Formats: sequence, structure tokens, C-alpha cells
Amino acid sequence: MYKSSFCGVIDELPGIYVDNFENAGEVRARAYFLSHCHSDHTRGLFSQELVNTLEVTGACLYMSEASAAIIEDEMVDERIMRYIRPLRMESTLVTLSSDTNQNVEEQIITVTLIPAGHCFGSVMFLFRTNTKTVLYTGDFRLSVNDISKFGYLNKDNEPILIDAMYVDTTFIDYSYENFPKRTESVEYVVEEIKKWLRDDNNGVALHMSAKIGYEFVFNEIYKKLDMKIYVNKYRWRFYSKIQHLVPSLTNNEKSTKIHSCMNWSEKTDHTKCLTNISSNINFLYIHFSARKWDNYEIDQPTINMSSSNRIDVCFATHCSRTELVHFVRHFSPKKVVGFPNPFPEKLLNNSSKASNTPLKRKVVQKEIKSPEIKVNKKVHSALLKVMFD
Ligand SMILES: [Zn+2]
Ligand SMILES: [Zn+2]
Repeated sequence: MYKSSFCGVIDELPGIYVDNFENAGEVRARAYFLSHCHSDHTRGLFSQELVNTLEVTGACLYMSEASAAIIEDEMVDERIMRYIRPLRMESTLVTLSSDTNQNVEEQIITVTLIPAGHCFGSVMFLFRTNTKTVLYTGDFRLSVNDISKFGYLNKDNEPILIDAMYVDTTFIDYSYENFPKRTESVEYVVEEIKKWLRDDNNGVALHMSAKIGYEFVFNEIYKKLDMKIYVNKYRWRFYSKIQHLVPSLTNNEKSTKIHSCMNWSEKTDHTKCLTNISSNINFLYIHFSARKWDNYEIDQPTINMSSSNRIDVCFATHCSRTELVHFVRHFSPKKVVGFPNPFPEKLLNNSSKASNTPLKRKVVQKEIKSPEIKVNKKVHSALLKVMFD
């Protein structure tokens, strides 16, 4: 999770706010959208001001079903649930109410949810009005090859035409040109855990850089080693409700030797994480991060044994610079708004400085007359598999 500076405003869609719920009374949103449940995207979501305003305006909050389940678990004022509208991974018509104060008429837009591959429940929003197509990516990681798997982003084997793209540029810096596939990193981690646990006196502490986003890691460890990962009762409260999706976690610390660690440093003990901790357990600390893997080369190992009991793992839940630039150029939108960093304009043109060969459009840009709704159920079922390749 990294700081997102997105203010919520989509210029093409007046009255819609995405991933920002602050100053609700003042902005009087017609609808809110939440791409995923990291705290830098939920500012103001749990405020009294938001609930009180919704009670007056009746505006709704749209999000994926998984995100709605997380909000239900974390909410402080249960009135918020009246306004939450979980959406499936498909196209939905959303009615924006009229507002005489702001002189806007009722409007119907099509919203399509696309898996964003960032964390549990994370989605992109594809908004379509009669005149505009806008893609808001939220935080995302999609490999170049996966773009074509999402039917909504393609039409007749061509990328759809996008008027404006609001895109996650967390790793636009040159020092993050490459990240390994997450499947590859996890494979190595599993091997190391297996070796370490050959000694009965050993345990494993997994350090993640965000509360959600590592469900795939947990599931893979469980699948390969037949051992669950212990989480504390607060996290278990949520994860116990979605065991069909994340079967790899447990709240029974005695049943496993691996725990999701609450410590920031190897120097502190695990009494915060484990209640029945014996002091002579020899822990292997596994740190997952992307930020510290600057200048990673694609043929470099994806894990690093930084001391005799610590492993650093390169695990990116955002696109690398290469993936990001490729994604944007694939669509060549008319306008690009990057967050938290600006998207360099030169990368949109056929500039020689760009790191990828530009993908040229074969079709002539034309106005989309009416929103087209196609339901592609395959996307949903293949979600977990596709999003981490
Ligand atoms: Zn995030
Ligand atoms: Zn711990």
C-alpha cells in the first residue's frame, strides 16, 4: 500500500467520486465508487459526515462484492450499509439522480468492473456515458498478456477506445522498470519455507506491507505445504467469512508453524502475534515488498537471503514501469491522468525515449453511440488464477 493522491474527481463524469469520500457535505456526490479497501483509497469512508450526507442525498457507494464484505466488517456506523451497492464483475447500469441545486439532470451510465490484480476485491471501473468512455484503473497489476483476457477491454480483437484513463503510476520511476511475476516469487518462498521447517523447532513469520493483497501467497503456501497460516482474531473475523476463497488461514495457532507477523522488526518478539509463544522457536522472517527492489533485473533472483534468518521477497501488487507504460500505450487514450505521479506525456507519443514499441491503432476513432453491455462470466471464475500470473 502506497500513498495515492487521487482526489476522487473524474472530470468527464461530474458528480462522481472515486476512492475519496472526504468533505461529503460540500461535494454532495451523485455516486461514489471504491476500487479497493486500502486505507489511502478509503479516506472519509468511515466518517459521520459521509453517512449524514448520504441520508440526505441518497447517493450510493458502488464497489465489488468482496470490497463490500470488507467494508461490512470494518464499518463503524452501520447506516453506511444501506447505501453500499456491491457490483459483480460485469456491466451494470447505474442511475445518477438529478440534483436541482447543482443543475444536473438524471443520467444513466454503464459501469463495468474489471479485476485489477492488486489485492482481494480490487477492481478497475470502466465508465461509459453516451459520449465518453473512461477507465479508472485504481491500484492495479496486469501483465501485458492478460489485457486481452478481459473481454470488456477489447472489441473485435482491438483495444477499446478510451477517452480518458485515470491510472495508477506508483512505480513509474525508471528504477522500477521490472518486477518478477508473483507466481515466480511465491514458488521460491515455498521452497525456502519447506527447507526451514524440516527442523521441528523452527517457525516462519510472514511480513506483508499491507493488510490485504497477499491472499494468493497464503493459498499457494497452503496448497504446496498443506499448512495453514495463523492470523490474529481481528483478521480472522473477516477471513473466516470468505474461507471458500481464502482457505489457507486459521486462527488456531497450535495447528501451524507459520504466522502472518504483526512485528516490524526481527528484534521484537511475537507475543503480539501468538499468544502461546515458546521462546525457543527459531523464526525465519520473510519480508514481501516491491519498493526496496529498485533496479531489479528480470533474470535476477526474486528472493534474497539478507541474513541467516531473513528472506526478502520481491512481490509487486502494482505494475512495473514497463507493464504500466505498455498498458497505457496499448489503449493510447486521448487523455491520461496519473496518480500518485503524473504520467509523462512523452510516453504517449511515438517517442524514441519510450521503453516499448508503440502499438498503433488499426481502426479509426469513432464516437460510441450507445453503451454496449456484454456479460462475460468467464472473467469472474478465472479471476484468482489470472490476476497473479
Ligand atoms: Zn492499494
Ligand atoms: Zn510475529
